[in-house]
Amino acid sequence: MSAVDINSGDELRDLYRELILDHARSPRHFGKLDGATHSADGINPLCGDKLHLYLLVDDRGKIEDARFEGSGCAISVASASLLTDTVIGLETVNALDYFDAVTKRMTHGHDEKKGHLDLGKIVALDGVREFPARVKCATLAWHALNSALNNQSSTVTTE
Ligand code: ZN
Repeated sequence: MSAVDINSGDELRDLYRELILDHARSPRHFGKLDGATHSADGINPLCGDKLHLYLLVDDRGKIEDARFEGSGCAISVASASLLTDTVIGLETVNALDYFDAVTKRMTHGHDEKKGHLDLGKIVALDGVREFPARVKCATLAWHALNSALNNQSSTVTTE
C-alpha cells in the first residue's frame, strides 16, 4: 500500500487527501455480502489492485447494500469505499449516472452533462487526475459497478 503523494499547501487538497487516507485505512462496507444479486471483479494489473464488488438490488431497482473485498493501493481502496458509501440507497440508473460522472471527471476533467449530480465526497478523488497512472486505480471500482449492473462479464480489467 502506498499513498499518492499529492504535494500541495492547499487546505482543501489536504482535506481531500486526509479523506482518501481515512477511507483507505478504514474502508466502509468492506467484506463479503451474502445474498448479493450483482457482483463483479475489477483488476488493475498496472498497480496490482484487485477488488470484488457485491451489490444487493431489490426488485424495484434500488441498491439496498453494497460491499467490496480485495486489496490494492490506497487510492483504489478509498475509491471503492467512497463508491459503496455513495451507491447504497440509490436506484441503479442513478448509480450508473455516478459511474459516468466519475469516469468522465477522472479522464476529461469536469463533466458538464452530469454537473447536476451531487458528487459529495467523491470529489476528493479529483487530485488523482494529476497522476495519470493512478486514474485507473481511482476508477477501478466504478468500472466494476458498471459491469455488475449491466451483467457484463464478471471481470473488468483496466488493460
Ligand atoms: Zn492502484
